This record gives sequence, structure tokens and C-alpha cells, in this order.
Amino acid sequence: MPDRDIMAAAVDKYGGARQLVKCCEELGELTQAICKLFDGAQWSEDDIEAVVEEVADVEIMIAQVRMILAIDPDMEQRWHDRKLRRLWRQLDDGT
Ligand SMILES: [Mg+2]
Repeated sequence: MPDRDIMAAAVDKYGGARQLVKCCEELGELTQAICKLFDGAQWSEDDIEAVVEEVADVEIMIAQVRMILAIDPDMEQRWHDRKLRRLWRQLDDGT
């Protein structure tokens, strides 16, 4: 089954509000996994894999957020470009 169909089935089964909450939970898990990297002097393979696992969870949930909110891809691309241009300006300014 295509990824999009699986995600649509999840939104259909659990509902948009519940999946938005789930997205928040997964974002929190990614935050925790990244913060754990600062606990030790060296990053273990397990620590890195934990981040990769949570990135996958977050990517799946973000895709569902796009569906739930019917996000316009053009609007999303404009924001993406705007944010990247701002980052580039910051890098260029040395700030
Ligand atoms: Mg997770």
C-alpha cells in the first residue's frame, strides 16, 4: 500500500485531532532523543539510531498534518523558501 494511503487510513481511523496530538508527542520524542545526545561525551550508534527512529516518526506525522489541515503545497514551499533565504541572509551577515 502506498505511504500516502497508509497515512490517510490512520487519519480516517483515529481522527485529525488525535493525530495532531500524536504529532506533538512524536515531536517531543524527537526532542528527547536529540537532547540525549548532549548527555554523553560521545554519541553512540544507539543514540544516533534513536534520533533516526524519531525523525521517521515525525516525518510520518508531519505528512498527516499536511493532510489534516489540507496544507497548500505552494504555500508550504513559499514558507520553506522564505525560511531558507532568511537562514542564508543570517549566514551571509555572520549573525
Ligand atoms: Mg516516536
